[in-house]
This record gives sequence, C-alpha cells and structure tokens, in this order.
Amino acid sequence: MIIIAKYKLIPDETDQNKLRVKSEEKSICPICLNEILKVIGSRNRRALNSKGENLIIVIRRLRCSTCKKIHHELPDILVPYKRYLSSCIEAVVEGQGDKIACENSSIYRIKRWFKVMAAHIKGSLTSMAARENAVIETGGGTTLKAITLYVGERPGWLARAVRIVVNTNNWIHTRFAFMT
Ligand SMILES: [Zn+2]
Repeated sequence: MIIIAKYKLIPDETDQNKLRVKSEEKSICPICLNEILKVIGSRNRRALNSKGENLIIVIRRLRCSTCKKIHHELPDILVPYKRYLSSCIEAVVEGQGDKIACENSSIYRIKRWFKVMAAHIKGSLTSMAARENAVIETGGGTTLKAITLYVGERPGWLARAVRIVVNTNNWIHTRFAFMT
C-alpha cells in the first residue's frame, strides 16, 4: 500500500460520486524503495464523506518491478481499511463528530480505533525520527498531541501522519493492533 498526497480526483462522467485518482507524484515501493512501479489494474474502493454520501474511489494497483509486491495506491483522503474519509475521522477524533453525518455507533468505533492506532502512529513516527536523530521531546501530553508535534497541528494532520506510516511500510491492520 502506498499513499499519495499530490493527485487529482476526476469525477466519472456518469457518476459524480465515482472518482478516479490521477497521481501527480512518483511512487516508491515501501518494501524495497524501488521507483519502478507498473500499473497492473484498478479497483473500486468505497468511502463515506462527511454528508454520509457513498463515494467510489478508483484506485490503481501497482506492481513493483523488483520485489514483485502489489501495492494499492490510495489518495491521502483515505485511511487504509477505514470507510470514512480521513477528514471525517480527524473531526471525530477532535470531538467534532456532530459535524459528520454518521451514527453514534460509528463515532464510538472511530474513537476506539484511533485510541489503538494513535499509539502505533506515534511509535512509528518516533522510531523514524530516531533514525534521523530528530526525536521531538513530546513530554507528558496526549498521544494526539505527540503526533501533531511531528506532523503539525493544521488540518490534515491525520492524513500526513498516516501517509508517513504507510509509505514506510509500518501500517498495521487494527485487527492486529487490538491483539497487542
Ligand atoms: Zn519493491
């Protein structure tokens, strides 16, 4: 899996909620760091926006020419394996779930998910920073605060943090995170 930050979302001619991702950056294989990725197809990925509307995002499947691994190329509006857009999840985490058209049970699940993932995201950012001797003293603040110290507080912090973790091959599925 690869997350890209520079792209255009082009609505399908027949369905405005179906969006094709047109990448404007060069992806690198997160496994072996090779730059030659071949497009081998695409896949429809469902997502929900803040109005609760169903989106279909057409994402590309890429194969690394060196390690042969297949990667799905996600635009950074998405969080791997999550149905709600990254901006919706960010709003819920910041206690603004009332701005999102979703049920209380979804808000609860998103919060619970973030509680588990935040520690992993923070840990990944810290270990990457350690490799570059750039660890930030995060003190006794919350895990969320520590994450924003690495990626900045301005809106989109979740997308920025997720992108770093995914593109360094450190993302984990929550199913596994819950077990640790
Ligand atoms: Zn590779």
